[in-house]
Amino acid sequence: MKKTEMLYEGKAKKVYKTDDEKKYIVEYKDDATAFNGEKKGTIVGKGVVNNKMSAALFAILEEEGIPTHQVELLSDRESLVKAVKILPIEVIVRNVAAGSLAKRLGLEEGTPMKKTILEFCYKNDALGDPMINDYHIAAMNFATDEQLDTVKKYAIKINDILKKFFIERNIKLIDFKLEFGIYDGIVILADEISPDTCRLWDGNSNKKLDKDRFRRDLGGVEEVYQEVLNRISKK
Ligand code: UDP
Repeated sequence: MKKTEMLYEGKAKKVYKTDDEKKYIVEYKDDATAFNGEKKGTIVGKGVVNNKMSAALFAILEEEGIPTHQVELLSDRESLVKAVKILPIEVIVRNVAAGSLAKRLGLEEGTPMKKTILEFCYKNDALGDPMINDYHIAAMNFATDEQLDTVKKYAIKINDILKKFFIERNIKLIDFKLEFGIYDGIVILADEISPDTCRLWDGNSNKKLDKDRFRRDLGGVEEVYQEVLNRISKK
């Protein structure tokens, strides 16, 4: 499969068309941004980690019955994916209070939740991805009721699968973000699952093994991305 024109360049990835109109090639970059693009930097090797980690996790999810956009890993930084139409919704899944939820509700980071929380944001950089609910999604036609039901069902199932997968590798899955797309009329998981899009804490020390090290200038950013990939690849 050959790349043809570049379709889109985002903060962390480039997306190319291919000779097959139903497939794209995603190329993962080392560029990192935070706080809606205000903070910019480079995390050396991040693109390789995120590409390989997403491919591995998508394969596991597929085995467990979640349809994903992943077709195959092409190289260290490239994956062949299904050409989806992305729903303009970010789905946040939370097991433990952290980040914006901790701030909003005045909770200490690390406070466990009695129940998994699902949140939705409208994917719009200019507006800073505002939080929305089911009513906004229906009123704005961001997804049909049926699509939203599927998204919720998949998000909860993905959380169950990933929580178990990570804890077996001594990693706590604190929270993460998902994006879904439509392919042949059905909802499938798209985008990536990586330390850029998840909060991952060491099972013993609670050391942050994710992009918060970049966001909060905690140091050792490159090392923890490699560490997560190592823990995933071993078992
Ligand atoms: N997240 C993401 N992209 C976004 C916003 C959030 O991947 O545009 C991820 C983030 O890495 C974390 C989870 O979603 O794992 C919840 O993020 P939160 O709402 O706490 O926002 P943040 O503190 O990252 O601004």
